[in-house]
Amino acid sequence: MPELPEVQAQAERLTAAFAGAELEGFRALTFTALKTVVPGPEVAVGQPLESVDRYGKYLLVRFAPATFVVHLMQGGRLEPDEKQSAKPRGGLARWRFADGRAVLLSEQSKEKRAGVWVVAGDLATQAPLLGLGPDAATLDEAELREALAGPSMRIHGLLRDQRRVAGIGRRLANEICHRARISPFASSGKLSDDEVGRLLDAIHACIDESLAVERERTAMSKSADRVGAVYHRTGEPCPVCGDTVRAVEYSTYTVNYCPTCQTAGKVLADNTTSKFLK
Ligand SMILES: [Zn+2]
Repeated sequence: MPELPEVQAQAERLTAAFAGAELEGFRALTFTALKTVVPGPEVAVGQPLESVDRYGKYLLVRFAPATFVVHLMQGGRLEPDEKQSAKPRGGLARWRFADGRAVLLSEQSKEKRAGVWVVAGDLATQAPLLGLGPDAATLDEAELREALAGPSMRIHGLLRDQRRVAGIGRRLANEICHRARISPFASSGKLSDDEVGRLLDAIHACIDESLAVERERTAMSKSADRVGAVYHRTGEPCPVCGDTVRAVEYSTYTVNYCPTCQTAGKVLADNTTSKFLK
């Protein structure tokens, strides 16, 4: 799933290419792609695109009367639509501009869960952004402490919980815990002041690093392109200390960590053989 850095860089590319272009029309290509009824997308027709911004993992395609809020889910893409074919593969929605160009939302996975919300007024008080935590890119210490002060969770899960902090997914959660030298299974309510400081620094360092890489690209990376110190590196040496990167497997994702850097050398039971960490 694209996370904050991938979505941010794509928003910047779309702004650079399309800002100022006048919207000629919007069309949902499936029955479920458009998640809202009022206002209708036509309120933005004839208006210039102001910018494409981001909050959490959402893209914000802004026109003065309304914003199209786009969630890419697992495999969605919001990209220039070069071909503009009648039935684009995986096509969910298309924005056509008066200059003849278009932007296509597509999703190649079967589930087709990516979608578009048309929102007028304050985005923060309406679906789908309502209830999201502070954006990870601008997270400050007070916001992080507030996120940690809620019901205690394992830190890896808290980082991925969009209501606590918005924008971080599985890869970044692994990388942030490793960078902060905190066990992914540490309880969020029990972090020391020093650990909270390391966690905040790691959040920003990991986001900045990934964003710098992503900004060098001309299109959004695939997950296989995204490198990490521990993520997807089970069995390989930790780049910091040389210990072997370990994994705890869940049905839909893997938590990677370095025992020496993060768990005082302790190898955690793999979830596939132990119920302890479920
Ligand atoms: Zn290590």
